[in-house]
This record gives sequence, C-alpha cells and structure tokens, in this order.
Amino acid sequence: MTSRFCSACNMPLENTSDIGLTTKEHFFCIHCTHQDKTIKTCTEIFEGGIQFFLNTMPDLNRDFAERIVRKNMNSLSYWNTRKDTCLQGPEASDEEFAEILKRLA
Ligand SMILES: [Zn+2]
Repeated sequence: MTSRFCSACNMPLENTSDIGLTTKEHFFCIHCTHQDKTIKTCTEIFEGGIQFFLNTMPDLNRDFAERIVRKNMNSLSYWNTRKDTCLQGPEASDEEFAEILKRLA
C-alpha cells in the first residue's frame, strides 16, 4: 500500500486496519470515523486530537495541545472548505509544531 494519510487528522494510514472510511477523494482513519462509517464532526476530531497529545505527552497543557491540533487541522485541505469555529483561534508556531512532530517520531 502506498503512503496515505487521513484527510481529517493527517495520521499516516500504514495498514488497511487504520482506515475507517474511503471516499472518492479521501481516506479517513478509524479515529475520525464513527462505527456507522460517518465522519466525525470537526469538534469531535479536534477534541480527539487534543486527548491524543495530552495522553502521549503528559507535560503538555491543554492550551498548547489545542494550538497544535488547530495548526495541524488547518493545514489540511479537507478543513479549508469546512470552516468550523473550533478551528478559529490561536495556532502553534511552525517551530512549536516541528518540535512536537520530532517528539512523536
Ligand atoms: Zn483521522
């Protein structure tokens, strides 16, 4: 399988089991889809991302996690056409974002 990424959260989809939903234009991971194959709302995915960072890096505070997730989601074309209020607000800087990605690697 070639490298694919979730259109809603940018998670790498390395295995078929990571994919929750495939549409004509997008792939969505299992974390961004409901059991019934519908895509979660922006708020649900935003909150899920925050929980992921807070669980993975317990030293982060919520405000910082929100800014990281907002930066990540706003960089995805999927959300550019779906302006949602949860994606409006302060974002992490490029430096902060790069630092977090390094820690995740
Ligand atoms: Zn996802």
